[in-house]
Amino acid sequence: MVKRAVYQVKGDTGDWEVVMGLEVHAQIASKSKLFSGASTQFGAEPNENVSLVDAAMPGMLPVINAFCVEQAVRTGLGLNAQINKMSRFDRKNYFYPDLPQGYQISQFEFPIVGEGVIEVDVEPSHGDAAYTFPVRIERLHMEQDAGKSIHDLIDDATCVDLNRCGVALMEIVSKPDIRTPLEAAAYVKKLKSIVVALGTCDGDMEKGNLRADVNVSVCRPGGYAKFRETGDFGHLGTRREIKNMNSFRFIQAAIEYEAHEQVRVIEAGGKVNQETILFDADRGETRPMRSKEDAHDYRYFPDPDLLPLIIDDAYIAGIKATLPELPDQKRARFEADYGLSRYDAGVLTADAEGAAFYETVAKGRDAKLAANWVTQELFGYLNKSDLELSGSPVSAVQLGGLIDLISSDVISGKIAKDVFVRMIAGEGDPGDIVEAHGLKQVTDTGAIAAVVDEIIAANPDQAAAVKDKPKTIGWFVGQVMKASGGKANPQAVNKILREKLGL
Ligand code: ADP
Ligand code: MG
Repeated sequence: MVKRAVYQVKGDTGDWEVVMGLEVHAQIASKSKLFSGASTQFGAEPNENVSLVDAAMPGMLPVINAFCVEQAVRTGLGLNAQINKMSRFDRKNYFYPDLPQGYQISQFEFPIVGEGVIEVDVEPSHGDAAYTFPVRIERLHMEQDAGKSIHDLIDDATCVDLNRCGVALMEIVSKPDIRTPLEAAAYVKKLKSIVVALGTCDGDMEKGNLRADVNVSVCRPGGYAKFRETGDFGHLGTRREIKNMNSFRFIQAAIEYEAHEQVRVIEAGGKVNQETILFDADRGETRPMRSKEDAHDYRYFPDPDLLPLIIDDAYIAGIKATLPELPDQKRARFEADYGLSRYDAGVLTADAEGAAFYETVAKGRDAKLAANWVTQELFGYLNKSDLELSGSPVSAVQLGGLIDLISSDVISGKIAKDVFVRMIAGEGDPGDIVEAHGLKQVTDTGAIAAVVDEIIAANPDQAAAVKDKPKTIGWFVGQVMKASGGKANPQAVNKILREKLGL
């Protein structure tokens, strides 16, 4: 078991630890809004998708969207969480120009989903080992999204677009179980992979489909352990909440900045106030947005327009029966069926597309060799080039073809890398590339033997020394491969060299 990483901030007065809990807003994948029939389509003309309910016209009544409820339950099941058979909608009251009702319909005391837990995988970074850690989920509730205020369209005026108003969100609240910036990003990644696999959220962070509020506090070493032992939040520092983060990179940068900032404030004799803050990505710093409201400021009360939401076991079981294979299950299957390491299986199952791509490549082939080519060569190239898998210049069938050429000894692994570069460049089928450039491996032992003779004759001293130092045969192998332009079959080269050198 690999130990969890520790993130400490070194202050003037000693070390500090960081603690984080996240509130993730995930837009429910649904054609219509949570309480109206208006479309949720992204990119429509401003105020095109606004029903009378969304615009809060007098006398309009909300009607719950059954599909959204199903999606929330499905997500709860994917989070291994308690599904509450009774939940209730409350009004969260506040004024904002893009909130025509003057309140948001949300769930407060009785959320649809209660406690759960997910396993989060931290990829290695800066030479650290990969590890997995649990994050406890506190709750998942449904709520309406607000509209959008646009401040930069008309001078001296703010425009309001209500298309997003009333769109269904799931707010997924974690316990404060996250301890490093990398863990926070990994947690959001895992949530994203779960909801995308479930089909309950598109997970498109650039469109704001999935965004995280990151609560950060600092305490002295040992404070967190005491909190976990006693459940007493008094052992933790005061949290500040960084709002609306929608990039993994910014999440990490914001936490790093914020943790150091809190230590600076405390060590200067100040106090961290419970505040809502924003991360300014251009400046790389956080700044206060508003002081934090408490629940009572919102005057929550049960929405009198909506009945409590009651579901039964049969309903839940029906949804459970339709759950797809989830990332953790897929990973376990990849480990078992393909004999992959936990890490490789994790990389390959991080998203469904990548997993399907791998399964096509691996089918009927050496699964580990396929995993190496997909993760290291292909994913490595895509990462470096900032490309998505969907934009890959090499298809799964082509990559499979390349692996066939290696497995059948037509080309060596080394030559295969050159062929791969040509595939990326768009030269097409690996078999054609090998033909066109004469890259076929030389397995003709006579031809190899001739090269071996030449090399031995040209290097009598090394040939004499190799008997005492058999490991130096590697040098000869290298020379022969070089002389053959990398095309000689390495096994044959080895065998012939051993014979001729008398090893
Ligand atoms: P609110 O809506 O007021 O922000 P929530 O209960 O919805 O309250 O969310 C609080 C979030 O803050 C949770 O994710 C929780 O884990 C996290 N949290 C609470 N206390 C701390 C703390 N001291 N340090 C870091 N995170 C915290
Ligand atoms: Mg909050």
